[in-house]
Amino acid sequence: MKSSELRQSFLSYFESKQHQIVDSSSLVPGNDPTLLFTNAGMVQFKDVFLGDDIRPYTRATSSQRCVRAGGKHNDLENVGYTARHHTFFEMLGNFSFGDYFKREAIGYAWEFLTVVLKLPTEKLLVTVYAEDDEAFDIWHKEIGLPKDKIIRIGDNKGGRYQSDNFWAMGDTGPCGPCSEVFYDHGEHIWGGPPGSPEEDGDRFIEIWNVVFMQFNRSASGEMAALPKPSVDTGMGLERIAAILQGVHSNYEIDLFQNLISAAAKAVGTDDLTSQSLRVIADHIRSCSFMIVDGVVPSNEGRGYVLRRIVRRAVRHGNKLGQNGVFFHTLVEALDVEMGDAYPELRKLKERVASILLKEEEQFAKTLDQGMKILEDAISQLGDEKVIPGETVFKLYDTYGFPVDLTNDVARENELEIDEEGFEVAMEAQRTRARSASNFSMDMSGGVTIDSVTEFTGYDYLEGQCEVETILVD
Ligand code: ATP
Ligand code: MG
Ligand code: MG
Ligand code: MG
Repeated sequence: MKSSELRQSFLSYFESKQHQIVDSSSLVPGNDPTLLFTNAGMVQFKDVFLGDDIRPYTRATSSQRCVRAGGKHNDLENVGYTARHHTFFEMLGNFSFGDYFKREAIGYAWEFLTVVLKLPTEKLLVTVYAEDDEAFDIWHKEIGLPKDKIIRIGDNKGGRYQSDNFWAMGDTGPCGPCSEVFYDHGEHIWGGPPGSPEEDGDRFIEIWNVVFMQFNRSASGEMAALPKPSVDTGMGLERIAAILQGVHSNYEIDLFQNLISAAAKAVGTDDLTSQSLRVIADHIRSCSFMIVDGVVPSNEGRGYVLRRIVRRAVRHGNKLGQNGVFFHTLVEALDVEMGDAYPELRKLKERVASILLKEEEQFAKTLDQGMKILEDAISQLGDEKVIPGETVFKLYDTYGFPVDLTNDVARENELEIDEEGFEVAMEAQRTRARSASNFSMDMSGGVTIDSVTEFTGYDYLEGQCEVETILVD
């Protein structure tokens, strides 16, 4: 089944269960200034869950474009390293606003997976919130799953991804216990079931999160009951497509294979298995859709996230031997894959390509030189495993290397970067900027110098934005 057919099949299934099909909302959340990017299907319905917005329907379904590249939900570092993470992905979801609750939510999920998609039940296992006996009983007694396929997970199982079975919208907002469905890709792949020490491997891949929205958490941590118990679910389209197409990694599905081929052609390589091609194929999606939704590369906020991702993609192309511009040409291949489902992309593709081209050209000026400095620094390390903060800062300040880009190179070489040293160099820079601006102000008799005095540096290590993101786990 092609990804596009799968998307349609999901929406049609829930439509047949009286759900209103709702279009994907923008990656730039319209209703929440505290959120960097839309990172889950529920974002556009947040106020409906809280009872502050009333819609003419109580059941909805959507395929939501999501970006997880900053703040709490940052999968940027996982791209190229896991089989299942993207910076941009589509989240299929069904929602109940005070309509059905646990029983139906679980029943629909199971029916869609095992009857509509015909997934073999023996490959599926589920988790429930540790204390949620009700969900446990629904899975066991009503669905008929054996007890050893239902794993109870508490607030934090301490895994690398810090997942748990209590979903919370950051520190405040709608939240509640959840139940997740996992697919076993087979013994030949490293990894263990959720809750085990090897859970971060890619053998058991989480496909669907079914959240039972029950509370609104206040700033003081109090949990008030929502007006009505509700449901919010999210399933990664690419993850379920991989299963249906009989492949393990998301990057092996139809859509990604085509993007990877296009990327290989654009950078001039034959090795389709290169991790860098995966990174580039991932990044063209997030970058293009961010621009479609009005983000432009800049030095702060969302624009800086975009800039960082473009630069990262360009660096990976450079690593494969492409010294010229190439990234923007991939918009065409992306349009072929996704333009039908997202007419806004088709409409704006020339604009997207031209913004990317400009951004590529700008970085191209310093990339080679910066890489040379970085490679020299690495070769001088000897037995040291940490790239000095001053080098990281110099690359950042003079050559436009976002810190995560330098970190990406470090990781490829099994090295780390000295984040603390970088901070120190950055702070010294801020102090210099402050005193320079005071001096200029005095000398120019009160004429304000805007950007220098205002500039307080970026929260680059934390994903560049000081805003919180929604936590879906
Ligand atoms: P993981 O534990 O694998 O990082 P998650 O628990 O962070 O996933 P949720 O926040 O529960 O994911 O999101 C709901 C669903 O969205 C997941 O079950 C998965 O199918 C999909 N998903 C989440 N993050 C990504 C991503 N970075 N790329 C692709 N799909 C994703
Ligand atoms: Mg995650
Ligand atoms: Mg998880
Ligand atoms: Mg999850």
